[in-house]
Amino acid sequence: MKKCKLPIDCVLGLTYRCNSRCVMCDIWKIKDYPELTLEQFEKLPSSLRDINLSGGEPFLRSDLPEIVKILNRRCPKARMVISSNGFATELIVKQMKEILKIKPDIGVAISIDGLETTHDEMRGIPGGFQKAMATVSELKKLGMTNLRLGFTVMEKNINQMEKVYDLTKKLGIEFTHSFAQSSDFYFGGKQNEVHPRADLLKKEYEYLINSELKSWNVKKWLRAFFAHGMYNFITSKTPVLDNAPGRDFFFLDPNGTVYPSVVHNVPMTNINELDKLTDFWCSKQADEKRENIDALKIPVWMICTARTAIRKHPLKVIFWILKNKIFGFKIK
Ligand code: SF4
Repeated sequence: MKKCKLPIDCVLGLTYRCNSRCVMCDIWKIKDYPELTLEQFEKLPSSLRDINLSGGEPFLRSDLPEIVKILNRRCPKARMVISSNGFATELIVKQMKEILKIKPDIGVAISIDGLETTHDEMRGIPGGFQKAMATVSELKKLGMTNLRLGFTVMEKNINQMEKVYDLTKKLGIEFTHSFAQSSDFYFGGKQNEVHPRADLLKKEYEYLINSELKSWNVKKWLRAFFAHGMYNFITSKTPVLDNAPGRDFFFLDPNGTVYPSVVHNVPMTNINELDKLTDFWCSKQADEKRENIDALKIPVWMICTARTAIRKHPLKVIFWILKNKIFGFKIK
């Protein structure tokens, strides 16, 4: 009998409620979208090693600490990160005080897409940068060390990536980034066509990648590799490593639909209809869905899918890191 390989990485869209007005995402326009009850989170597989709690704005769920509690019990080996726009400082701090008692090593990623003016334009919230930075400062006061700024690359802010990276160094926190993508069902169905200026893109990525490689921190080297993959993806739409959405990874939307990723519009199943997700994951129907996913041939390079790909190809990644650490990274 064929051995069933369970997923190790996922993004959980906990809610589509959002207090932001981002230009690259229409989730904030969605009204009255159903949300999963706490019981549904009990159905997630214990095989998970990385869980991103996302939204909408996840802190708008008043039961977020209970969700973390369930996930921590169900998936004790999983690392968890909550992605937030950081605007509701008081609410975030109140919830994090509870959450840190349950999972002290949990991470929080606060979106920052540029310095003050650019960030506020991207997020559509006047004073948004100051609010988000106040949240970072308050979370640091709680003793949090697993903190990061998450930067979303678009045309209008690519010239600010270096500045936000330097800000993370000044704050002593991590830098992560993604690319504004299109989705038929996520981002409120927003279609983003992003073509940053080639010279700026090259300059900003060379700075980011070389800065990460200069450190003596394996996590930062892996982030440098991820960034190299992102540059490649933005410029050629080709992932540097094969990744396996719908196999190693899934996205769970707030109404319980399981998708292979946020850009693969292949609803695989709905968790409300199952006793546990593994029942479906190892079924013939799941294999049929995977055939549909493969047939779409949608290239992806996102942190969630890339993470599993990096784990599968350690030699390629180590070779790239060594070569570029020794000789320096230069885009031709
Ligand atoms: S990108 Fe995030 S913060 Fe912005 S509207 Fe979408 S869900 Fe809300």
